[in-house]
Amino acid sequence: MDFHVKTDDFFGALKAIAQVIGDNRDYVSELDAATGDGDHWVNINMGFEKLLASENDLRGLPLTDFLKKAAMLMMSAIGGSSGVLYGSAFISAAKALSGAEELNAANFGTFLTAMCQGIMERGKTEPGYKTMVDAIHPAALAYREGRGRGEDAAEVLRQAARAAEEGARATADMQAVRGRAYYQANKGLGHIDPGAVTMSYIIRGLADYIIANCAA
Ligand code: ADP
Ligand code: MG
Repeated sequence: MDFHVKTDDFFGALKAIAQVIGDNRDYVSELDAATGDGDHWVNINMGFEKLLASENDLRGLPLTDFLKKAAMLMMSAIGGSSGVLYGSAFISAAKALSGAEELNAANFGTFLTAMCQGIMERGKTEPGYKTMVDAIHPAALAYREGRGRGEDAAEVLRQAARAAEEGARATADMQAVRGRAYYQANKGLGHIDPGAVTMSYIIRGLADYIIANCAA
């Protein structure tokens, strides 16, 4: 299986992800109330609402322009640190995919890795710091490793989504080095990081959407 994700498909995936985010308001808010200031769901939901409301501006753009525009919209819509971090992720992906007209099985690993690098550079974050990086970093790695073994793209997408979910859960055992949880006495130990959870929704949503709609 290969897949082809053009901007219209990408927008469709964003819609599906926005739905999952919308459905998990209480859970994500509780997580950020425990280790942060409680606004993470409001922030990310606002960002995705802004993306969906900008449908006319986004649809029809070439892929890399789409990603750059999405970055600007996220940064302007989201006040919290996560807005700048998503923006950096999309801009980094646009740069890494320069010239590409679609996401496909061959460049999806580059896409995930670039998003992760963008966040790590902007946030001065490494894996293990109890942030959204702990979801996207293992996902990017799982995707590249699965491809390296020559496995089917749908299976590799599933492995990436599972790695993101497991990575998010594993943040419960981490002590924060970045983000608001760092300022807590126990550095958030015992609590799952909200940004890692919403990042796992994004990666799971993308993977499921691609498998269901973009396979070729
Ligand atoms: P704020 O922390 O400004 O209230 P949000 O609540 O929207 O912003 O987002 C919090 C999430 O952002 C955290 O759960 C964490 O995953 C992520 N995060 C915070 N700081 C960093 C950083 N320096 N690098 C990567 N991710 C970070
Ligand atoms: Mg917050």
